[in-house]
This record gives sequence, structure tokens and C-alpha cells, in this order.
Amino acid sequence: MTLSLFDAPDGREALAERAALLRSEILRHDHLYYVEATPEISDEAYDALFRELCDIEAAHPELVTPDTPTQRVGGMPTKQFATVEHAVPMLSLANTYSRQEVEDFDRRVRSALDVDHVVYTCELKIDGLAMSLTYRDGVLVRAATRGDGERGDDVTANVRTIRSVPLRLSPVMFTGAPLLDIEVRGEVFMGIDDFTRLNEEVVESGEKPYANPRNLASGTLKQKDPRLVAKRPLRFTAYWLQAEALRIPSQFAAHTLLSQLGFATGAATEQVSSVDGIMAFIDRWTVERHTLPFQIDGVVVKVDDVQLQDELGSVARAPRWAIAYKFKAEQATTKLLDITLQVGRTGAVTPVAELQPTPLAGSTISRATLHNEDFVRELDLRIGDTVTIEKGGDVIPKVTAVVIEQRPHDAQPWHMSPTCPCPERSTLHKPDGEAAWYCDHAACPWQIRRRLQHFASRDAMNIDGLGERTIDQFVDAGLLQSIADIYTLPSQRANILELDRWAPKSVDRLVEGLAASTLQPWHKVLFALGIRFVGEGVAKILCKAFPSVDALMAATKEELVAVHEIGDRIAESVLDFFADTSNRDLIEALRAAGLQLSAAVDLSQVSQHLEGKTFVVTGTLTTMTRTQAEEAIERHGGKVAGSVSKRTTYVVAGESAGSKLAKAQELGIPVLDEEAFYVLLHKQ
Ligand code: NAD
Repeated sequence: MTLSLFDAPDGREALAERAALLRSEILRHDHLYYVEATPEISDEAYDALFRELCDIEAAHPELVTPDTPTQRVGGMPTKQFATVEHAVPMLSLANTYSRQEVEDFDRRVRSALDVDHVVYTCELKIDGLAMSLTYRDGVLVRAATRGDGERGDDVTANVRTIRSVPLRLSPVMFTGAPLLDIEVRGEVFMGIDDFTRLNEEVVESGEKPYANPRNLASGTLKQKDPRLVAKRPLRFTAYWLQAEALRIPSQFAAHTLLSQLGFATGAATEQVSSVDGIMAFIDRWTVERHTLPFQIDGVVVKVDDVQLQDELGSVARAPRWAIAYKFKAEQATTKLLDITLQVGRTGAVTPVAELQPTPLAGSTISRATLHNEDFVRELDLRIGDTVTIEKGGDVIPKVTAVVIEQRPHDAQPWHMSPTCPCPERSTLHKPDGEAAWYCDHAACPWQIRRRLQHFASRDAMNIDGLGERTIDQFVDAGLLQSIADIYTLPSQRANILELDRWAPKSVDRLVEGLAASTLQPWHKVLFALGIRFVGEGVAKILCKAFPSVDALMAATKEELVAVHEIGDRIAESVLDFFADTSNRDLIEALRAAGLQLSAAVDLSQVSQHLEGKTFVVTGTLTTMTRTQAEEAIERHGGKVAGSVSKRTTYVVAGESAGSKLAKAQELGIPVLDEEAFYVLLHKQ
């Protein structure tokens, strides 16, 4: 008998709730990290969530759900590229953080194999993304990302541009046969210098910088245009080799062969035969990693003998024969020079630490967010303090502690200013139950800049040519006062050309960027509006429930909260937003500019981007009829078929889909739900 959670004692009920929360948070971060390449939290913070969930599940196996992230590899195919299946699953690695955990791993391996000692290969864990390369007859025929481990994205065209990926193998004989039909796996990454230079260019052009080389490498591989990829200096290092019909005896031998075949492989790789040997390798690289021209986030320890690897096998998401040892977040101490206030797009006013610039994990840190007043108070941060800063997974630097012994005797407790730092100096207020202070003055010039920046940003309307610096420049020049002005910019051509750094070509790029952004789907437009509490996920949920802006504007509070996952807070914020006539005027201006304000497909758009793809549409769709969906596919160059076969590229399944869906699953044909289909239609 399984225990009902409702019968369970309080503790277990709380744990079940916690596990559910951890699961949904981990899935959200997986998406941000693997699909969007824009993580919100550090790897260490992520790993802590993951560990907590593993611990709960280990102690309470009845709480394990079929979809728990602890049982599967984190990513997923993006649907931007053709999906390909991996012949051998591409797994993740179990993480360890201490000598104790390395000893446990060694003990598990030896006891499973019933041997006294085992030879291990130690490799550097380069912080990039895993790639599988397939060679036929010595020629590169396919490059695929790891995706969900079973299926990944076919990124062959992009990977061909990476110079360290051999397009043809050097001739190598192994046990009397030439190595021609092989699969090679390794890491695609970017060097620190290249990353810094490219990121400077990104900032220069007014875009948001990438948090680390991994994100830039992963974002680059997702580009649709291989010419763009070719301009970015990606590199590849190989660490896995499988030859058809031949067994490579050991991991170390694989490295030697890979290097003979023309691949760059981990030059630091070492064979060791004890935990002491593993720890010596780890200790050395914990220090020496700073001398490397690329970022590593740990060390990978693998059982060297491939036969033993096979005997050990794997659990759901990771092999039993390998572990990753992750380095701890790096720390530094520096001086807190000032605490300034930053105004966000929703008017939230956030304290920011202005720090004495200090190098940390490969970059110079001079600012760090302090989140809110409570955060500053809890740490009792005072201007003049010496503080510890940390960069976990090298994403966002944070202030973690105060070195009290070094506090100047006259340092005063910090208090939040009651006024907005903008020239209007309006009064701030703090809503009940919230941690943030808000500036409610809709005309606050800083808020306006933020709103414009958010609207144009990559995840929202993705307006090419309208980065943060350009927005500042246009606001200063009086060309932009509100979001509605954005789509009037083409009529301001002459005025723009008078500004610094503008030439006819760059104006053309901006006009094209604006035109392209009008194809962004309805949920992106809703997110771009910057309504408080309406992030990307909530925007998608709302758009599913209210397929047009008119339906959403007409919705009552009851109708809003009736939607799963929409609570009072979000509902009230949406109602407040649309109750404001200036926001309704904005919607009309955006409608006039031709933005997608409903999920219905605009049949006048024609492209060829679905060419070569065959679709079967089944079930009931909620935002369009089946015929409309089929017409839309054809207008984008795709083909529509009546029945599912091996030649079907995608099955679009609405509600109550029946036998066609079952057939697709049986044949392993990718199935798109309505939202994924909509995204695919509009992604070009
Ligand atoms: P992982 O990075 O811990 O280890 C597996 C990966 O290591 C492989 O897929 C491969 O890409 C890489 N690798 C590098 N060198 C290797 C070598 N010599 N041999 C084998 N593999 C090598 O696992 P993962 O599944 O890629 O990612 C999980 C980790 O990603 C988490 O532990 C977390 O740190 C991070 N993550 C962070 C967030 C976030 O929001 N910050 C979200 C999801 C995942």
C-alpha cells in the first residue's frame, strides 16, 4: 500500500512539498541553463538544490516521481534544429566535492568489481558543452549536442566551422583495422581571452554580456547561421572514443588514439591507481587551474579499463565508473566603497554594492547586487567594510560576508533611502509582504530606460540593433520616451543619423531588427510589456489560457485565478496593468505596429523555413483550427501528411490526440504540443 500524503505525518507532508518545489525549481533552472544558456543562479547554488532533492529522495523513495530531474540528464533538444538520437546515451556525471566522497566512489567501484585496487584516468573538466561527433569512412557526418542524453540537436553545420574539429580523420590503424567509422565525444568551449574580448564587443554593441565562456559557447552553437558561428573562436577537446566493431581497451588508450586521429585531447590526463593519486591530481589543478587559458570547473575521474566500465554500467543519469570532482566557488575580499540604488523596469529599487575592483575567477568585479534592504541588514553591511565576495560557477558575483575585524570604527549601519535615485526623486514605498521598495512614479526616467531595455532584450522582443547603450542614447536625444515610440523609430531616420556612431547601414540594421521583432509570438510580447510578476513562464501560461490580448484584457480576477498556477498576486498585477489607460493606449500602438497580439497564426507571412519537413496535425488545438495549422505549415514551406510514417518529421498533437499520437510515439517521431509548434512556426 502506498501512503497517501494526506495521511502522512506533518514532517513527511512538508518534505513532499519541499521535494515538489525543488523539482520545479530545478526544471526551471535546467531550461534556463541548457536551452536558453542564461542561468539565473550559480552552479553551486544549483548543485545545492539538486543535492537536497537527492537526499530527500534517498531517505523517502516513495517521494520519487517518474519525472524527477535526479533520474535524467538535464537538457533537452531545443527543437530549433533537427533532433537526432544518440547510439549510446550521453550521460551526466555524479558530482563530488570532498576527499571523503572520492573515497566513497573508490570503495563502491572496488566492491562492485570485487578487486583490491583500480586504475583511474584523471582528466580536466573543461567548462563547456558536450558534443558527439560521428565519422563515416573517416569523414565527419554528424555533430550532435547531448540534449536529454537520448536525443540532441543536430548542429553539424555549426560544428564544421570549429577548426579543432577534424573534418577528415588522420589515418590510424588499430589492431590491424583502420579507424574510419567512429564516434568521438568531447567538449566544445571558448578560451578565457576570446571570451573576454567577445564579451567586450557584446557590451560595446549595447547587448547584455554573457555570464561565462560556457554560456557564450552554448549560445553560439544555437545560432542558425554557421557564418556567425565561424566568427566565434570555439574549440573542441576530445575525451571519448568508440569504434564500430572494435573495443578500445582503456580510457588512456582512447586519448592516445584520439590524438593520432587529429583531435586535441586533454594534455593533462594522468593515470593513477589510488585515492591518494586522485587527490594529488585534484590538489594540483585546484591551484594551477588559474594558469590555464580556458575555464575548468573540476576534474573527471574515470575507471580506466573499458571492460570494467561496462561491468559497472550506469544508473539513470550518470555512469557508475566516473565522477566529477567540482571545485569550490572562488572567493576574494575587497572593500565596499558605496551602496547605490538601481531602479528596475517594474520600479523595484535594488541596492547594489560598489566594490573596490578586484580580480576573481578570471574577471574583475566592481559591482554586485545586494538584492534588497533585508539582505543588507542581515549581513549588516556598512560602507567602508571589508567584504567577502564569491563567484559560484562563475555566474553572478555575490557578497557573502563581512570581515568584522576590519570594520572601520566609524562605519554606520546602512538605511534604504526613501526617495528614488532618479532626477525626479519621487517617494518610494514598500508593499506589505514584499522585500522590495518600489518607485511608483510611472514617468521615472530610470524606470523608463529599464522598461525599454527589457522590451528590446533578447528574451523579449529581441530587437537587433536596439541594445542598452542605444536606448540610453535615444532617450537622451529625446527620440524615445515610451515603448510605443520604439516602432516609430524608422520615421526618425534623419534624426538618428545625426547622432554619434550612426551610419545609414546601422539604421538599416535597426529597421530590419524592428521588422523582425514584429514576428515574435504573443507570449513574448506579453513578457516584453514588463508587467510585474509576469516573467517568461507566467506569460506563456497566460497566453495559453487567453489566446489574444483582447481576451486577456477582458478577463476578470475570477477568470485569471481559475488558471492553474495563476494566483491573486499575478492576477491583480495584470488587472492593474490593463486598468491603466496609458497601457491600453500602448497596446493599441503595438497593434498598429503589427505585433503579434494573439496566438492565431498570421497567414499573410510566408517563409521557407519548414522546407523539407513533413507534419501530421492531430487532436484539438485551442488557438487555431487544424486547417489553420496545416495552412500555416504550408505557408512556411512545410508539407502536411494525413498519416504518420517514418517520413514524418513532426506530429503536432492537440488535446485528445489518439492513434496518430500513439503511432508517433511508437516510431519515435518528435511530438510537438501546441506551444512548441507555435514557437517552431515563428522561429526562422
Ligand atoms: P556536469 O557538468 O556536472 O558533468 C557532465 C559534463 O561534463 C559532460 O556532459 C561534459 O560536457 C563535461 N565534461 C567536461 N570534461 C569532461 C571529461 N573529461 N569527461 C567527461 N565529461 C566531461 O553535468 P551536466 O549534466 O552537464 O550539468 C550539470 C551541472 O550543470 C550541474 O551540476 C550544475 O553545476 C550545472 N547546472 C547549472 C544550472 C544553473 O542554473 N546554474 C542549471 C543546470 C545545470
